[in-house]
Amino acid sequence: MTALPPNPIVALDDVQRSYGDPPVLACAGVTLQILPGELVAIVGPSGSGKSTLLNLIGTLDRPTAGVARIDGLDVAELDDRSLSALRAHRIGFVFQQFHLAEGVNALDNVADGLLYVGVPRAERRRRAVAALKRVGLGRRLDHRPNELSGGERQRVAIARAVVGDPPLLLADEPTGNLDSASGAAIVELLHELNDQGTTVVVITHDAELAAQLPRRIALRDGRVLSDTRAPGVEA
Ligand code: ADP
Repeated sequence: MTALPPNPIVALDDVQRSYGDPPVLACAGVTLQILPGELVAIVGPSGSGKSTLLNLIGTLDRPTAGVARIDGLDVAELDDRSLSALRAHRIGFVFQQFHLAEGVNALDNVADGLLYVGVPRAERRRRAVAALKRVGLGRRLDHRPNELSGGERQRVAIARAVVGDPPLLLADEPTGNLDSASGAAIVELLHELNDQGTTVVVITHDAELAAQLPRRIALRDGRVLSDTRAPGVEA
């Protein structure tokens, strides 16, 4: 008996997103699937549609045409409340600017990642400690963002994104604000999280970063220009 392939965690079918009048197609008909356990770079120059695609995959936005299924659910069929629940439970986000609360220590920054999941405070803190240990910051629990390096801040942001164990992690230019050594360490951490089972999608304009990931989807003008896998990585 042959095993069935796993259901895709992201399935886009001719997805479009237009803005303005006359409409500009920021996403001009994208069809792709991302399977559980993949580690994918979405690459392209500024204006190629990376952020638009990330917003669609992250259910922060709905397609204006085509079908986007995230975690098996058709985004167009879900109301805002259901989309918020989907994001809170199933998707972690990491941004270039970290987006940490400044006056709040690492532990509480991460614990707050569980506020919308309905976890009691003591359990939030317990899980936050575990997530910070997972990203190598077990000794920085009481540090506020301004007491941490850029690389450490991004680790806190990653801990916050994975504290609820979402199956899908989306990272938007996660090394964009970091020096090359800290950036390389963050890429390594994303690999580790992926090895532990999280599906990871990284948006980047950095070709060097993209080259380190097993699958690369290149965008131009809102379309997929190429979709390549490193040798030995199966579709
Ligand atoms: P990237 O992230 O690769 O820089 P974007 O997804 O931000 O690309 O943008 C793709 C195209 O869509 C660009 O031409 C941009 O100007 C346009 N665009 C993106 N968002 C909006 C918006 N909210 N309103 C109008 N045009 C937009």
